[in-house]
Amino acid sequence: MLAVAAAFALVLTVVAVLLAMNTASSFSAGLSARTPFSPTEADGMIPAESALSVDDDVHPAMTGLDDELREALRSAQAAAAVDGIVFDITSGWRSADYQRWLLGDAIRTYGTEAIARQYVASPEGSSHVTGHAVDIGSLDAQLWIIEHGRMWGLCQTYANERWHFEKATDAGGECPEPMADARG
Ligand SMILES: [Zn+2]
Repeated sequence: MLAVAAAFALVLTVVAVLLAMNTASSFSAGLSARTPFSPTEADGMIPAESALSVDDDVHPAMTGLDDELREALRSAQAAAAVDGIVFDITSGWRSADYQRWLLGDAIRTYGTEAIARQYVASPEGSSHVTGHAVDIGSLDAQLWIIEHGRMWGLCQTYANERWHFEKATDAGGECPEPMADARG
């Protein structure tokens, strides 16, 4: 009887040790597995269909912008409103992680980094990461800024990105010739 109890206790001990080992190994697997990055609002991501107004002062995509750019956008928006134009901001400040993620996504889409870089700047080179650029969603607003934006120093800076604007000159100054693409 004593032998049976001892054997039973031994089996219980072995089961307990095995369970503990299993728990420990899945715990460390969980720690070492890299969670794929997915941009959030904190990275400046603006969900599609939720474009921001120039007056938004809560979303990180807006609060992360350079003050001069934000002021220029607000003044230009006030003038554009008279023409019934609303600036719908689809992208502003972005974290470097978000920009890296966008570039990775473009590389998957276009097949090579060389082609992807014509459309998406590197985290080191992006004016979105430094808070010096916004993307505008609607065609009417894009065309309005292309025509009148320089009065507030707002310029289209890439020839292949009609939606991308930066504060690139003084108010009333001449915009520099747009660069061909985001590689510039
Ligand atoms: Zn842009």
